[in-house]
Amino acid sequence: MNICPHCREAGGIKTWEKRFSSRGNPVTCKLCGGLSHVLASSAGGTFVVTAFLFLIAVLAGALSGSWLVGLSVCLLAVAYNLWAWQREALWPIPKENAQAARRANWVLAAVYLVIAFFS
Ligand SMILES: [Zn+2]
Repeated sequence: MNICPHCREAGGIKTWEKRFSSRGNPVTCKLCGGLSHVLASSAGGTFVVTAFLFLIAVLAGALSGSWLVGLSVCLLAVAYNLWAWQREALWPIPKENAQAARRANWVLAAVYLVIAFFS
């Protein structure tokens, strides 16, 4: 269930759209047209925990000498990731803020290009 923070309806936002949303690239609700995104900090936290669980899976598999142990911890990591994304809240963002964030991304990209060019 991806509840739109604007119209409080589920069904206007797909989970994969939510996954790739950010301030500069918000999802558009099909029902009300409102923009929303997942907080970068919580998305980053989910990524860190998932990566950590995968690391444990590799370690557990290597230490126990059984790929079944590694595989089951891997499945746990995948399950955690899906669950964490499911409960991730969407935050409303005004159109102007999304545009400003996108412009900031472009400015950052341009700065990186210039640094890469001159270094
Ligand atoms: Zn909506």
